[in-house]
Amino acid sequence: MYSLVINSGSSSVKFQIVDPASDAASEPFVSGLVEQIGEPAGRITIKHGGEKDTFELPVPNHTVGLQKAFAMLDDKGIGPGQLDITAVGHRVVHGGMVFSEPELISDPVVEKIRELIPLAPLHNPANIDGIEVARELLPDIPHVAVFDTGFFRHLPPAAAVYAINAEVASQNQIRRYGFHGTSHEFVSSQVPGIIGREPEHTRQIVLHLGNGASCSAVENGRPIDTSMGLTPLAGLVMGTRCGDIDPGIIFHLVRQGGLDIDEIDNLLNRRSGVKGLSGVNDFRELRAMIDNEDKDAFMAYNVYIHQLRRYIGSYMIALGRVDAITFTAGVGENDRFVRWDALENLEMYGIKLDAERNAAPNDGPRIISADDSAVKVLVVPTNEELAIAQKAARVAQRQGARA
Ligand code: AMP
Repeated sequence: MYSLVINSGSSSVKFQIVDPASDAASEPFVSGLVEQIGEPAGRITIKHGGEKDTFELPVPNHTVGLQKAFAMLDDKGIGPGQLDITAVGHRVVHGGMVFSEPELISDPVVEKIRELIPLAPLHNPANIDGIEVARELLPDIPHVAVFDTGFFRHLPPAAAVYAINAEVASQNQIRRYGFHGTSHEFVSSQVPGIIGREPEHTRQIVLHLGNGASCSAVENGRPIDTSMGLTPLAGLVMGTRCGDIDPGIIFHLVRQGGLDIDEIDNLLNRRSGVKGLSGVNDFRELRAMIDNEDKDAFMAYNVYIHQLRRYIGSYMIALGRVDAITFTAGVGENDRFVRWDALENLEMYGIKLDAERNAAPNDGPRIISADDSAVKVLVVPTNEELAIAQKAARVAQRQGARA
């Protein structure tokens, strides 16, 4: 039994065929990527059974991309029609105030996702494209939307409300929505079992540090704060995004810098963060530059760590007592320097890393704090696709039981 997971972007579609019962560290049964949609040269990559096939061909739109990818899978005998696929899970970035739980997709649900486009003008249209194409190609399988914002839908108002004019905020649906919710939920749900606590008595901080980065404070299974906001631009310093900045910088860039709104959008989303300060956004390259005494790389790293520690400190206060701090995603799972520097010298707050455990290679969920650390520090690999696959399978099963 498998779920097909689709993550559709503006010029690419990622997909996986996953057994929802598999464990987080295992490879998906099939994974694929359709790239450069709408450009003269496109590419479809399929990974299965330790082999990788790449096909170079123009992909004019999402429909053709998924059609071709599915046909390639059919040739290998592993097409969606040839396998026992019980659900298709779609990653949808913005669920606004409408969706907190995964939703069985119907025409009215697609309409509601469409109404949320003003909140995610780059992401939701691409997600809808993926949904429409996949529903057309696989009409007999239940499709389920899983929202990046869903986990944070019920943040306490004090954490969700921005201190800007309430009327204007309401007219424009401005509030903190939070993102990476599937990952924060997946990782935070595993922590109590690993540290031997009841989920309803566990206070924790989750640090999702990938190319995008966010953190959350989770009290007894429910998030009470998170670093991303109305958009995924807020909070931590990221690979190419600036994270929190003084909003006055935007007026300054318009008035003094002569930039228009699209230029600023591009600047803060794609040309800032670690890349904006050092020229690279991959932490492996950043480390190599730091080792070569590159001053810009060192500055970028220090700004990144400083901001991360700010958030950790403020979430410790928000939670009052912290049982666990967990690192996840590409940087969090692999970069021992980031983990060490994020939590160095915090013994007086009960946080003490074990250098050897911290330096061990990434190999599944593990504790990296010292035995006498009051706060447990963990690395828990995230697997958003698996989480979406599981949610989609559950919704489809419930639907099947009702039908
Ligand atoms: P993600 O968005 O979770 O896929 O994370 C991607 C980022 O993880 C990359 O841009 C790198 O900065 C980082 N990353 C991946 N592998 C490593 C590694 N072995 N060491 C340090 N950083 C890594």
